[in-house]
Amino acid sequence: MAPGIKERISIIEGDITTQLVDAIVNAANPSLLGGGGVDGAIHRAAGPGLLAECRRLGGCRTGEAKITRGYRLPSRFVIHTVGPVWKGGDSGEDELLASCYRNALALAELSDLRSIAFPAISTGAYGFPMERAARIAVRTVMKYVTYHTTIGKVLLVCRGNAAYSLYTDILDKESTGNSEYQMAQALFSHLSMIEASHGIRVKNRVAIVHTLAPAIRNDIQALSTGISLNNWVSATGAYGEVTVPENILQKLLDSLKDTGVWRE
Ligand code: ADP
Repeated sequence: MAPGIKERISIIEGDITTQLVDAIVNAANPSLLGGGGVDGAIHRAAGPGLLAECRRLGGCRTGEAKITRGYRLPSRFVIHTVGPVWKGGDSGEDELLASCYRNALALAELSDLRSIAFPAISTGAYGFPMERAARIAVRTVMKYVTYHTTIGKVLLVCRGNAAYSLYTDILDKESTGNSEYQMAQALFSHLSMIEASHGIRVKNRVAIVHTLAPAIRNDIQALSTGISLNNWVSATGAYGEVTVPENILQKLLDSLKDTGVWRE
């Protein structure tokens, strides 16, 4: 069985600088030269080596991420990202905040890291409303780990009981029932069975699941999609390395929409 979402994402109340993970994420400012809040705490705990390395990075744009070593921190690396300053919500803040999470995760994956801890980016001095930020954090991380398996563990570290219960409620709500994560896991396992039974390797596994899982509502639909894919493999007599073509995926997607249970 693939791990459930709660084995991949944990909510922690506490200090990010003490977390034992491959990388902790810093909610930095564009200069990367240190600041208050979590940034100050990370620089204090890491020692002066961190600032010296940051000076050589030439800053970081909002929504982007850069990596340094962790110096005296328990984590080997720090991934610095710059969250958006809250300007009322109509200046692309949501998308910029989501890209902080995505870019930090992608950089961790590129660096072959397995675990990462995030603070609640932008929710301090940058003024992003906590609930809206927490929802973006949880959704963006869930989406990422659904389609990328290198990073086994993501910690969302927040300060205070109010933030902790908010995060926990959001993760509970987003992961109950037939979440995209669960539907994707079901489809991945059907694909594995198809590969094993036909002695093939499906090259575009992730792309297939990424296209179809958001449209799948329940296990029955996941199973029938698996059966359709299996039928396609049988009918084409495909062997070796197989790529399921775009038009087949589109047909499957259309048939999922036709059942009238399309999820917006
Ligand atoms: P930003 O400038 O991106 O808003 P801040 O550091 O001001 O960044 O705040 C981001 C969040 O980090 C806030 O919710 C704050 O409570 C939290 N925070 C501050 N110090 C720590 C820490 N040591 N560990 C985890 N979270 C922290």
